[in-house]
Amino acid sequence: MDELFRASLKIEPYQVECAYCGEQFEVMIDCSIEQQSYIEDCAVCCQAMQFSVSIEPNIEPSAQDSVKIQVQIKSLEE
Ligand SMILES: [Zn+2]
Repeated sequence: MDELFRASLKIEPYQVECAYCGEQFEVMIDCSIEQQSYIEDCAVCCQAMQFSVSIEPNIEPSAQDSVKIQVQIKSLEE
């Protein structure tokens, strides 16, 4: 990881869609961790979901000093 990328790391809001109720809500993503997985409750229906987050440097010229956030959400129910 180079210094430029490191300097751009921060907490970013990210819009997600609940795996249970389908409502959209915002979570805060810690962009200093490239791969992270954690359990968080839906802000609307309070169901617990597994979040898998990956952070990549955004290489588009128009998006300087930003990162690309990818979030996968899985319900914990089988
Ligand atoms: Zn929900």
